[in-house]
Formats: sequence, C-alpha cells, structure tokens
Amino acid sequence: MITLTGKKISEGIAIGKLSFYKRDIKEIKKIYVKDVEKEIQRFQRAREKAIAELKVLCDVSEREVGEANAAIFEMQQEILENREWIDEINGMILEEKLNAEYVVQAAAEKLISSDAFQEKGYNVGHEDDIRDVALRLVRILSRIWKDRILTDEPFIMAAKELYPSDTVQLDKTKVLGFVTMYGTINSHTAVLARTKGIPAVIGLGEVLKEEYDGKTIIVDGYDGKIYIEPDYTTLTKMKERRDAGLNQYKNLERLKGKENVTQSGQRIEICANVGTREDIENVLRSDAGGIGLFRSEFLYMETGRRVPSEEQLFQVYKLAAESMGSSRVVIRTADLGGDKIADCIDIGEQNNPAMGLRGLRLMFEKEDIFKEQLRAILRASAYGNVSIMFPMITSIEEVTKAKGMLERVKQKLKADKIPFNENIQIGVMIETPAAVMISGELAREVDFFSIGTNDLTQFTLGMDRNNGRISKYYDSCHPALLKMIRIVTNNVHLEGKHISICGDLAADLSMTEFFVKIGIDELSVAPVQVLGLRKKIRDIQ
Ligand code: PEP
Ligand code: MG
Repeated sequence: MITLTGKKISEGIAIGKLSFYKRDIKEIKKIYVKDVEKEIQRFQRAREKAIAELKVLCDVSEREVGEANAAIFEMQQEILENREWIDEINGMILEEKLNAEYVVQAAAEKLISSDAFQEKGYNVGHEDDIRDVALRLVRILSRIWKDRILTDEPFIMAAKELYPSDTVQLDKTKVLGFVTMYGTINSHTAVLARTKGIPAVIGLGEVLKEEYDGKTIIVDGYDGKIYIEPDYTTLTKMKERRDAGLNQYKNLERLKGKENVTQSGQRIEICANVGTREDIENVLRSDAGGIGLFRSEFLYMETGRRVPSEEQLFQVYKLAAESMGSSRVVIRTADLGGDKIADCIDIGEQNNPAMGLRGLRLMFEKEDIFKEQLRAILRASAYGNVSIMFPMITSIEEVTKAKGMLERVKQKLKADKIPFNENIQIGVMIETPAAVMISGELAREVDFFSIGTNDLTQFTLGMDRNNGRISKYYDSCHPALLKMIRIVTNNVHLEGKHISICGDLAADLSMTEFFVKIGIDELSVAPVQVLGLRKKIRDIQ
C-alpha cells in the first residue's frame, strides 16, 4: 500500500479504480497504417458510436432545453450520416493509408472550406458543428476521458491539474472522487468539487504517478490522504469512516426544516452556492433557504465553442427560480476570466488574468453576450424570486453602466411584451478592496451585497489564489480581511441593505460566531455544508 498526502478540498471518502485523465487531444498525429481495412472498420465503429451518443444527447436536450436546441444534435447526426463525407473519409484512409483520427480531422476542415459548403451559406456557426462532430469521433477513436465517462464504471480521476472547465463537466455518478498533482484550496476547481460534493485531494505532487492507473485507491477527503492498493485494515477503516460520514450527515438531516437561530435567538439565513443545472437539485436536498450565489459563468464552460443561447440560459435560470419557489435565487452575471476560461468566449492572452479582463469588465467588452444573459435572467424573474448580482465591482461607474444596460434590456422586453419582474433586486459582489472602501456609496446604488472572500483575500493580500507555492500564506482570516468584512457590514446596514458572505470563508465554522456577532444577514455555502452550518449556529449561545 502507498500512502500520499495532499490538500483536502472536499470532504468524503471515495473508493474505486484510478483513471488518469488525458485532456482533449489538441494535436492529432499523422500515422501511416498498414491494415487500411481495419482502419476503415475502426472509423465505422466510431461513427456508429458517435451517432448513438448524439441520439442520447438529443433526447436529453429535448427534455431539458427544448426542441429547438436539441435540433443541433440531430443536425450533427446528419453530418455523420452524410454519404459523401463518409466516402471521402474511407477514400482517404484507403488511398493515403492514414490513421482514422487524422483523416477525420482533415476531412472536416476540407468540408468546411469546400465551395459547396461556402455557397450554401452554412459558414455561420455550422463550422463548429462539423468540428464538434470530428472531435467526438476523434475522442471515440482515441478512447480518451470523455468517452470513458459515457461508458465506463464509476472511477476515481487523477490528473496533473484540473481546470474549472474540466471539473464543471464531471458527472458525479461516474467520477467518485478526484486527485491531482497540483492545485490550490481556493481555486475554482476546489470550489466546484465542494459544490458538487465530490471527495477530492489535490496538490499530491509528482509522487502521484501515471503507473498507478487502474489500481484501486481510496481518497480520504477528510484528512487529505490517498491510499493506493490499500491493505485490508485500511480498506476496512476507510469504509467505516465513509459510513460514519454518511451517518453524521444523516444525523444532521434531523435539522431540516429547523431555523438557523442561536441559543440567544439571533437569526442568520443560510443559502447555497450553485454552478450548474445539476446543483439545483442538491440545494433542494440541502434545505437551504435559497440560492445565495449562482456562479452563472460555469454554464458558459459546458458548451464548448458555442456560446449558450439566451433560451438555454433561460431554461436553467427558470428551473432554479421555479424549484426554489418563493426563496431567493441570486444569479451572478458571468464572472469569466482568471482561471474560469470558456472556449466560447475569446479573451486573448493576458499576463495576469485574475487582474485582467474578468467579470463585469469582460462583459462590457462582450456586450451582446452580456445583454443576452441579462435578458435570460430577467425572463426567468417572472417565474420566481430572482435577483441579479454583478461580480468584480471596483467603482460606482461600473454599477451605473451595468444598471443602465439592464434598464435598456428591460425596455426591450417590455416592448416585446415578454413578462419579467420590473422590480428585480440588484446586488453587487464585494471582492475587491476598492469595493470595500466605497461600500457606503455602493449601498445607495443597489439592494444587496455579497462578500466574495476568495477574491477579496487574493486582492487584499496580493496573493494569487491559484498559486500552490504561496498557499500557506493565503489567509482568509487575516485581521485585514476581518476588519474589511466588519466595515462593509456596517456601511451596508447603515443604508438598511442586506449583506451576505458567499466566499468559502462563509463555511469556516470557526468564523460563524464572529459573523453572527457582527450581524451578517446571510451565509451562502456549498449545498453539503448547509446543515453542518445550521448545527453550528444553533449551538452558539
Ligand atoms: C469569491 O471570490 O469569494 C466568490 C464567491 O467568487 P468566486 O469564488 O466565484 O470567484
Ligand atoms: Mg470571486
């Protein structure tokens, strides 16, 4: 048995076979093959599998995002059934004796640049479909990770490093847990693991070797350890720990429906943070008082090179609004940039992305995308208690500009006779020192506030939240941070407005008493953390 120690980022025990994640192939190698017939059969099998996958995707999409959006997958199936294209690929394999992966890729590009394709005026958007189809085929042919997810038994994923765009796509029913060589506790990958409730240990270093692929491992997300090929004693102990964890959670379930109130009668709201459509169900199960932070940017990281349409966004927001009934659903507009990169939005190279084009700043540059999101949020506001929140605020001007844009979108919806809540509440994130210093002025501009302690820590201490080498200095309980939280709370309350904390510090139970004492109105945490926090609050004198 080999024991490795890393950083715990998401609690729980996972036991399963280890599988190393290979990121999508960017460069496809040109390989000469001897047996062309076998290669053609390989392509044929991959094509059939791709059609079957698309059929499933089409059915799921029809149910979840409507017929119009599902049509995309139908059209992709047609590409795979296009006789001319199939003959082209078979011909290239036969004549040029090349591997199917390379040929598929080349045939896709050839199709896109063909005169017939250009003449049909298909070139807007449809190139992406062809490339998407080609990528699916290449994935199947190379039997890499995403393909495994669709077919294999549940497993524990290992990777050098996982980016938020990888993590957001993890299917909890397939990925039992994950372990990485690098990464930090405050990265968005860690945030996502907690939100999804996937046990994970990161920062194990190079001792996490690819040769462990296929071996049985235990991920101990409570202690930040992993055990490779565990012995009988460890396996038994860990199974007990897993059951104890589940029992502990079951015990907490008796707090469902109870109030978040201290022994002396002080109340504080508990809401939950979500990032994807799947998380909404976890919020309902958690008994949270609402969604305190919908990290809407993750929806842009799930759609590949295609920007999610207004309709797709609307369907997810509507589901959140309807599921939560009269409880609040705070949708934060996309906070892309930094480590949250979406393939569908080109930000360009930046030396210091966390301090670069990010959040609202980026959305001002991508006005059309921003307005579509505002429209989707406003439309969803007709179905529940939806509020809108702007991220990465540094000035009053930014708020005024964003509010102005929102107003124009409202006018257009009105003209189009589309229902929405005209009095939708507007809030801002306090996650830069500048926002702290002008929180008094901001409190006269908007209805509510949420402190993002993750970014506030990184910008106040001048420490990159994703840099593992300085994690030991990254202290969200630094006196400067606590002082800032106190200042913001006072300023906001002076204007009679609502203040919450939605950064990870909200779930730090050693801080709960402090938050209650200074009068924070709401704490928003990962769904699995809601009941533990409720217990902590109820135990406070
Ligand atoms: C934060 O910065 O604390 C926050 C809640 O936003 P995010 O973690 O998504 O940057
Ligand atoms: Mg933030």
